[in-house]
Amino acid sequence: MDLSRAAASAADDADPLAGFRSRFTGAEDDGPDRLLYLDGNSLGRLPRETPAAVARVVEQEWGRGLVGSWADWVERSRRIGDVLAAGVLGARPGEVLVGDSTSVDLYKLLVAAADARPGRDVLVCCADDFPTDRYVVAGVAAQRGMTVREVDADIDEGLDPGVLAAALDERVAVVVLSQVAYRSGALVDVAVVTRLARDAGALVVWDLSHGAGAVPADLTAAGADLAVGCTYKYLNGGPGAPAFLYVRRELQEELRQPIWGWFGQRDQFAMGPVYDPAAGVDRFAVGTPPVLAMAAVEVGARLSAEAGIDRLAAKGGALTGLLIALADARLAEHGVTVASPRDAARRGSHVSLAHPAAWQLTRALVDRGVVPDFRTPDRVRFGPAPLYTRFVDVWDAMDRLRTVLVERAHEGYPTERSRVT
Ligand SMILES: *Cc1c(COP(=O)(O)O)cnc(C)c1O
Repeated sequence: MDLSRAAASAADDADPLAGFRSRFTGAEDDGPDRLLYLDGNSLGRLPRETPAAVARVVEQEWGRGLVGSWADWVERSRRIGDVLAAGVLGARPGEVLVGDSTSVDLYKLLVAAADARPGRDVLVCCADDFPTDRYVVAGVAAQRGMTVREVDADIDEGLDPGVLAAALDERVAVVVLSQVAYRSGALVDVAVVTRLARDAGALVVWDLSHGAGAVPADLTAAGADLAVGCTYKYLNGGPGAPAFLYVRRELQEELRQPIWGWFGQRDQFAMGPVYDPAAGVDRFAVGTPPVLAMAAVEVGARLSAEAGIDRLAAKGGALTGLLIALADARLAEHGVTVASPRDAARRGSHVSLAHPAAWQLTRALVDRGVVPDFRTPDRVRFGPAPLYTRFVDVWDAMDRLRTVLVERAHEGYPTERSRVT
């Protein structure tokens, strides 16, 4: 592999997604000192179309249309859900709904799934999963007198399906699992795990937060039953953007979610005396959706759909592959090790590098115009977003990291221990 900057630049010239970069703000900042934003998996960049799309809803639908726009808003959660279903998630129309946060959507689907497995008293989650997922599982278990079984996963290589299989038996009602591990980027095969759980009689609620917009989920092909995920990461829906939930069509009538709001009600405006859940995915709605925020989600969802999830995944694999190769070739001698799967087929679009001074390195990088994330215990996490990150951006970021290490510039920063105490 040619690891020169010229080779990275040539990869950009050959990139079929190169044109998407200019559709995001920040592309105009293109000098040698430009900001290298490698945190698109925490908060994606702002699409250029988004301010006008949000302003349109504010000025026209709210400002002029007032309550007359209401009928459109009721449909919108499903309409944007359908864009995500077809363009990003590999699901069918009427299976995806946008609204609420990932945490709340996870709660709704987890309770619905547990109710659908009466007599089973165990919830399974991964000990290394994102905190909110583990907390929601613990909270639901506590409310229902259920037991949580946490399966261990390697923090770099991710969950071994064999370890999960050993935790599945006739007591398990629901498994909650992330498709892509938030720290290492390790990818779990949705189809394989769905089959394992189904064989044990359990349902899986997938959290696609770190995968949506980066790798395919192929929910229909995988036979997945339930999923949730963020829209403000690789889907570029903006801060606080509402999440999506997915419920396989064949399961919708069977499930009931626990928050009986009027947006989940059949014939909502009949204002009937008792809750009678709507047909289809609408029954998983609760209350008035965040209409302004959804305008931004729609722009982001359409951009990812237009690029195509397979092309996004291919580029994400190549970007992270370059990052890993550069870390091996140019950073290993300074104590940096790769803390993510090396096989592109086994990771999402982010990579973690381990170093004992990871916290200080992260601070030093931010001061030098590179934005990664620090993750415990000693990881610097880089999320090159295939829609707007170039190969030269990855190259330059690793070069700036190498300069920090060579000059020992990070040693002047406080350690994480001194930060927290
Ligand atoms: C980012 C993320 C969330 C965020 O949940 P919110 O309710 O939007 O705060 C949840 N789960 C996973 C796996 C995530 O990566």
